[in-house]
Amino acid sequence: MNNNNSKSAFKQAQEVIPGGVNSPVRAFKSVGIDPIFVKKAKGTTIWDIDNNEYTDFVASWGPLILGHAHDDVLKAVADAAANGTSYGAPTEIETEMAEQIVKMVPSVEKVRMVNSGTEATMSAIRLARGYTNRELIIKFAGCYHGHGDSFLIKAGSGAITLGLPDSPGVTKSTAKDTLTADYNNLESVAKLFAENKDQIAAVIVEPVAGNMGVVPPTKGFLEGLRELTKDNGSLLIFDEVITGFRLAKGGAQEYFGVMPDLTTLGKIIGGGLPVGAYGGRKEIMDMLAPLGPVYQAGTLSGNPLAMAAGLTALKKLDETPNAYEDLEKKAAFVEAGFRLNAKELGMNVVLNRVGSMMTAFFTASEQVTSFDEAMTSDTGKYAEYFKNAVENGLYIAPSQFECLFISMAHTEKDLEKLIKGNRKALEAVK
Ligand code: PMP
Repeated sequence: MNNNNSKSAFKQAQEVIPGGVNSPVRAFKSVGIDPIFVKKAKGTTIWDIDNNEYTDFVASWGPLILGHAHDDVLKAVADAAANGTSYGAPTEIETEMAEQIVKMVPSVEKVRMVNSGTEATMSAIRLARGYTNRELIIKFAGCYHGHGDSFLIKAGSGAITLGLPDSPGVTKSTAKDTLTADYNNLESVAKLFAENKDQIAAVIVEPVAGNMGVVPPTKGFLEGLRELTKDNGSLLIFDEVITGFRLAKGGAQEYFGVMPDLTTLGKIIGGGLPVGAYGGRKEIMDMLAPLGPVYQAGTLSGNPLAMAAGLTALKKLDETPNAYEDLEKKAAFVEAGFRLNAKELGMNVVLNRVGSMMTAFFTASEQVTSFDEAMTSDTGKYAEYFKNAVENGLYIAPSQFECLFISMAHTEKDLEKLIKGNRKALEAVK
């Protein structure tokens, strides 16, 4: 595979952009190869600037559940752009978008649009603190909630991939307000509540962890969090930036039947444009300015292009018959193929999957239900696996601690290519 153009583009980028990228994971640092510079994409195919072709299972890290450059989304964006790109004034499509979210996400009665998942989580904890008049929050080791200061404490995603779960630049006084518990360990949460009586504003959790690789909630975990937060007068925040509109129309809260007080959304909600949102019960959301005293704002929030793309994507998901059943079937097919490959090759790979999100952990551990178990993974092996997959035309996450995403655009041929590529890559790392 010829990567000369990508290599020289990366060199040039590094002169003027820190690390050559605008988000660390894109640099492929942990897998030891230069990143692929993308020229264009359509459906499930990405072409790089050397004209190599890849079948994509990263989906821009989750948003592209309809595939790249979906015709309806492109048309909606073009139509919106023809009328202007930003007004900084209310538009009807913002209400339509809010109505669509309220319709789809069961616990959300009112919603505020922002521009990224990071903004959504930052704003949600400010609101939780304002509402409860308390200062502490609990997060889980290995969960990632964007790069807000309060969340760069034992953070997942690129932060663990690069070995930087606690970032310099976060002040001690900010860090002390974030307590960390262990995922799937209710006792660790109960202990923090007992030690910090009447001080915890909220517990924030990825209802399915996706940023230490996929780690599903064990039976009773989410229900237990609901109970503990309720009993202690704290809010429960589901960070559904990945799971929202991916596991079901109503996200993980619908999938597991557990209702949070606040929900943060991102990725799919923008149809591939920069969008985030947070929402929840009316009496909490009405604490926000201009109605209430908790301040949060955004020059480009509710941007007409972003709303057009996002609303089109959400409507498509809402209106396509059996969208989530089909995604489940496709993903189950991939899981079965991966399991058979590992079995036939006599390899221990732990496969965690919920709906269309999946991770294959290269670990000797029998299961991955916690951050500690995820950390037993052999990242060197993953790097070799990744390189082989890329050589064979598969674009997968350049880190053990991320998800593989199946989209509505994936065809049987794409999935078979993935399973075959998995087999080849497993053979290469055996
Ligand atoms: N929360 C979760 C669960 C995420 O996975 C991410 C991003 N991967 C974020 C928040 C932050 O979103 P963004 O990158 O849009 O700021």
